[in-house]
Amino acid sequence: MKDKRVFIIFYLLAVYVTLQFAWWAYLLVDLNEEVHREEARIAREKGETTKADRVLKEADRRFWMVMGEGSVFLILLGFGFYKVHNAFRKELALARQEKNFLMAITHELKTPLSSVKLYLETLQKRELAPNEQKKVAGHAIRETDRLNGLIENVLLTTRIESGHFRLEKHPQDLGRLIRETLERPAETIGRQHHTEFDLAEGIEAPVDPGAFASILTNLYENATKYAPEQSRIRVALRTENSRATILISDEGPGMDPAELERITERFYRADREETRQKRGTGLGLYIVKELVDRHKGEFWVERNEAGGSTFYVSLSTEY
Ligand code: ADP
Repeated sequence: MKDKRVFIIFYLLAVYVTLQFAWWAYLLVDLNEEVHREEARIAREKGETTKADRVLKEADRRFWMVMGEGSVFLILLGFGFYKVHNAFRKELALARQEKNFLMAITHELKTPLSSVKLYLETLQKRELAPNEQKKVAGHAIRETDRLNGLIENVLLTTRIESGHFRLEKHPQDLGRLIRETLERPAETIGRQHHTEFDLAEGIEAPVDPGAFASILTNLYENATKYAPEQSRIRVALRTENSRATILISDEGPGMDPAELERITERFYRADREETRQKRGTGLGLYIVKELVDRHKGEFWVERNEAGGSTFYVSLSTEY
């Protein structure tokens, strides 16, 4: 409601300034014509016809001068309004997303904590068979992993935003790094999915291991979050022309490639039922995009044959 009022005031102001300007231009043209016509009349009365003609020509010249300068001014004014309007809209959208983010993060922090507490209380109060104990402990570990991932994302975003984030790139065996990074998530958050690895061996590339792990876990976590349980998640690594490409495919609802630009904005969450049902802060893909950009890599998404999404991260293998 408040946002609407700001826009209405802005539009009214824009219309008022434009009309005022048009009115002043009209008055100026009118006055110019009146003065010159009068001057020409007097000259003609005195029999100075060449002077009268010159005065009328001058009136004409002034008319076109006002029109020319007026048009340039109007174009600049329109451009200025357009820019301010866009900046306004962006600010408002960001403010709205930040508000959603704050609500989401409070919820996101509380939910796993309450679950962990509940699991610990169950372990403390009830005499459970060892396999049951293991199961409950497994649930608690999964929730703490999720909490950890969330806090890491918030910290990383803060570091990226404040400009304190620097990559430390070292040559890494990508296949090994992918396996090491996703081994544990595949057993915890990916427990209900079938994760397949198809990793080409011996591919080395200069990457920051921590940042690379963040890219992978965020993409993998999204696949486990948005694709149905028991579906297949494929993690592949291949190389071509001194580039290494990592693919993470799922059998979820899929994503329109044209959506990627919006979806990699900070705090942005798609306005879809599947998304609303899942917990999230809208930071995951923003972080992935930022980190891939800092590696001077490329990041894109395609819809796969299963109707799900395949996210691609392509990095240079050259030092
Ligand atoms: P979050 O998952 O916390 O909402 P992300 O930045 O990770 O934030 O993702 C942004 C949005 O992109 C999600 O809200 C979701 O709608 C969409 N999305 C991300 N990954 C997938 C995926 N694998 N399949 C379908 N949609 C996805």
